[in-house]
Amino acid sequence: MSIAIYPGSFDPVTLGHLNIIRRAASCFDQLIVCVMVNSAKQGMFTPEERADLLRRVTGNLPNVEVDRSNELLASYARRRGATVVVKGLRAVSDYEQEVQMAVINRKLNPQLETMFLASSDRYTYLSSTIVKEMARYGANLAGFVPPEIEEDVARRMRIIQGKEG
Ligand code: ADP
Repeated sequence: MSIAIYPGSFDPVTLGHLNIIRRAASCFDQLIVCVMVNSAKQGMFTPEERADLLRRVTGNLPNVEVDRSNELLASYARRRGATVVVKGLRAVSDYEQEVQMAVINRKLNPQLETMFLASSDRYTYLSSTIVKEMARYGANLAGFVPPEIEEDVARRMRIIQGKEG
């Protein structure tokens, strides 16, 4: 059975992430979308909340599982029996860091291959950071995050800004 992992911070999941998830899920028997916990970074949503949002938007994809981990990706992959890491590439700017991580991950776990999916041209400009920036100014999030979570993102930003209790 081919098991792949799609790791990221997903704070929050965007339509760009979801596009990669759908396409990767059709390439492998099982796709594990894993929220990697980076304790140094305080996010908009907690890792558990990010995983819940991901579960909500991938519920219709039977071979997709959502998890979260604070392990090293190479160790997590070994423990889960995964042999592939999927990464989305938006622009050349993503490339250098992603290739560096791919090489390091293969050194740590020689069974682990990293595969890159080119971002859909509709989403090359899209990142969680841009979504947060838009939410900060109360912009309409339609077309940027999955419709099921638009209100969650807008509401959380209002709470952070102290506009809602
Ligand atoms: P972000 O940069 O949006 O905060 P993450 O750290 O959650 O994203 O990214 C997880 C993975 O998803 C990375 O491989 C990243 O390159 C990819 N990714 C993020 N946004 C997009 C997008 N719009 N299109 C394709 N891949 C993306």
